[in-house]
Amino acid sequence: MKILKNSNFRALSKIAKMSPEEIIEIIKKSGLTGRGGADFPTGIKLEFTRNSKGEKYVIANADEGEPGTFKDKLILEKNPNNIIEGMIIAGYAIGSNKGYLYLRGEYSYLKNKLQKVINNATKIADKLKIYFDIEIILGAGAYICGDETAIIESIEGNRGNPRIKPPFPANKGLFNKPTLINNVETLANIPLIILDKNWNNKLRLFSLSGNVTKPGVYELELGISLKELINLGKPKNSIKAVYFGGFGGCIPYDNTKLNPNSIKKKGAILGSCTVIAVDETKDIVDIATNIAKFFEYESCGKCTPCREGTMRVLEILEKISLKKATKKDLELLEELCRVIASTSLCGLGQSSTNHLTTALRYFRKEFTDKLK
Ligand code: SF4
Repeated sequence: MKILKNSNFRALSKIAKMSPEEIIEIIKKSGLTGRGGADFPTGIKLEFTRNSKGEKYVIANADEGEPGTFKDKLILEKNPNNIIEGMIIAGYAIGSNKGYLYLRGEYSYLKNKLQKVINNATKIADKLKIYFDIEIILGAGAYICGDETAIIESIEGNRGNPRIKPPFPANKGLFNKPTLINNVETLANIPLIILDKNWNNKLRLFSLSGNVTKPGVYELELGISLKELINLGKPKNSIKAVYFGGFGGCIPYDNTKLNPNSIKKKGAILGSCTVIAVDETKDIVDIATNIAKFFEYESCGKCTPCREGTMRVLEILEKISLKKATKKDLELLEELCRVIASTSLCGLGQSSTNHLTTALRYFRKEFTDKLK
């Protein structure tokens, strides 16, 4: 796998002879975009933060909590050097001396290993006169802390509730100072871009799980067909649907190309390339209820549409499962989905009903068959 190629801190020696502007230009030209799901151009983010005034921070978002997503875990375990090196390079590029690695609570077993890498990397950087300090902060297991502003609140010692945007972190982030927040896969790619002119912008890490016999992380180019990916996972039964994590929604299993636009055209979101295969033995209403339980549990409770709406969605789905719901309940469910998606404060609430709207679009019969 290309992403696991250890750069051995060679990119640090290279950037020590460059200006921050040159580094940002290289990242911009590479076309690197955020690998946490948002797909925002990383070079532009670096530039925005560099252009903001005052003391600045870098945050590595290692709070991977999306159901079915485990690709960051692989990089954290197998190639942490590149993540830390990427943080130092990003810090140098924006003019920051301090970074935080926000590690998912469930990945706490990696803390000591990461600390050793940080000690080693900062020593090498010191010798190159690049001064950057990195602190590891352990999350406490809340899905919402994958949101960039909730991470900021959590690092500040507050409850991990998202902030209203704008202002964006690039202007006003951690301790109200300009802050660059990137996912670990994004950061791990930075040294590779610095060292390799032929770095491939199309390569992605697909987390494949569900009803396949060979789940795992597959490094493939965007544009591969869904069938090609699922075949690598060797499913036992025939597949009927795929879910793009908990938030990305579902589509019927076909030969769709796996790239953001093709998936968007089908009403779903490719996001961080999470693919959960669902075979014909599984009930879509059960899956919808399960995902709804997840969002109801993980809603931080700050805004009403998400806090109350996720509860009501779950109630109706449980009623459908028990065959006690009517056509009116189904209509109310669809109305709720629209309201929650359009009025929730952050991405969690806004995307919490994607799985349901897509399931109702493609597998409606499985819901209506259960009505009274
Ligand atoms: S949308 Fe949900 S998770 Fe986001 S702020 Fe509102 S209650 Fe919290």
